[in-house]
Amino acid sequence: KRAAEEAERGQPAITTDGMRIEVAANVNRPDQVPFAVAQGGEGVGLMRTEFLFLEAGETPDEDDQYAIYRAMIDALEGRPLIVRALDIGGDKQVPHLDLPEEENPFLGVRGARLLLRRPDLLDPQLRALYRAAKEGGDVKIMFPMITSAWELIRLRARCEEIRAELDAPQIPVGIMIEVPAAAVQARSLARHANFFSIGTNDLTQYALAIDRQNPELAGEADSLHPAVLNLIALCVEGAKEHGCWVGVCGGIAGDPFGAALLTGLGVAELSMTPRDIPAVKARLRGAGMDEMKALAARALAAAGADEVRALDTGAGE
Ligand code: PEP
Ligand code: MG
Repeated sequence: KRAAEEAERGQPAITTDGMRIEVAANVNRPDQVPFAVAQGGEGVGLMRTEFLFLEAGETPDEDDQYAIYRAMIDALEGRPLIVRALDIGGDKQVPHLDLPEEENPFLGVRGARLLLRRPDLLDPQLRALYRAAKEGGDVKIMFPMITSAWELIRLRARCEEIRAELDAPQIPVGIMIEVPAAAVQARSLARHANFFSIGTNDLTQYALAIDRQNPELAGEADSLHPAVLNLIALCVEGAKEHGCWVGVCGGIAGDPFGAALLTGLGVAELSMTPRDIPAVKARLRGAGMDEMKALAARALAAAGADEVRALDTGAGE
C-alpha cells in the first residue's frame, strides 16, 4: 500500500476531464529538493533567495550565489526552477544590509523597489543566475513586489544587458503579483512578462488592509476572501491575451480546497510547501474543470471568506 501511495505522488495532477495542473514546491535550498520531489513536486515554483542572505548572516557574493543556483538546478535533474530575485523589506529584514529604518516597512522600499535602488544587490544576483543558466537547466527569474510596468521594463532591460555581457541564453522573466495595483494592471503587465506567480500572502494583506503578521486579525486575513479571488480572476483574464501563464505560490495554493478554486479560476500552476503536495494532487485528481469553474463563479460572488469556505463539500478527497 505504501509503495502504491508513493508511486501515486510521482504522478501528475490530472483532473477527471483530462486537464493537467502543474504542482511545484516552494523550496529555498538544494538539500530540500529531494524531499520536495519525493512528495510529488514537479519542480520549484518559488525559491526565496532572501534566505541565502538571512541564513548566511552576510551578503553572499556572485560566486556563492552561482554555486547555490547551480546546485539547485543539478538537484532538480531537469525539472523547472523559478528563482525569485531578492525580496527584502517588509517581513524579511536583513540586519547586516543596514537598510534605513522605515515607519511602515510593508509599504516601504521592499522587493523590486529595493532592487531598482541597489544595483550592488541586483547585478551580482542576475550575473550569478545567468552564469548558472548558461550551463543548462530549466531556469526562470521572477521579480517580487512589482507595482507598475515601468519597474518590470527596467528590470528586464538590466537582465538583457547582463545576459548579453555573459553571452548567456535568454530565460523567461516573470513577476510576482502581490500588490493589488499589479493585479488590476495585469493586461499591461502581461505584455512584458513571460509568466505571473500570484503571491496571495501579500496580495491578501494589501487588498484587505490587514497586516499578515497581526495575530488578532489572522482569522480575517483569509486569501479566500472574494476580493482576493476577484483580483486573481483579473490576473488570469489579463494574462490570457498575451500568452502569459499564471501560477500561485502563496499559502492558499497548498490548501486542497483553495487549489480547486484557483484551478477553477484558470490558474495553471500551483507552488506550495512540499508537505502539502500529496493532498492537493489528490483533490485535483478527483475533480472536473466544469465543477471547479462553477465553484469559482460562486466564490467570486460570495459575501465573505466564510461563505467561500462553506462551498467546500470535500469533493475529491
Ligand atoms: C506571497 O506574498 O504570497 C509570497 C509567496 O511571497 P512571500 O510569502 O515570500 O512574501
Ligand atoms: Mg510576498
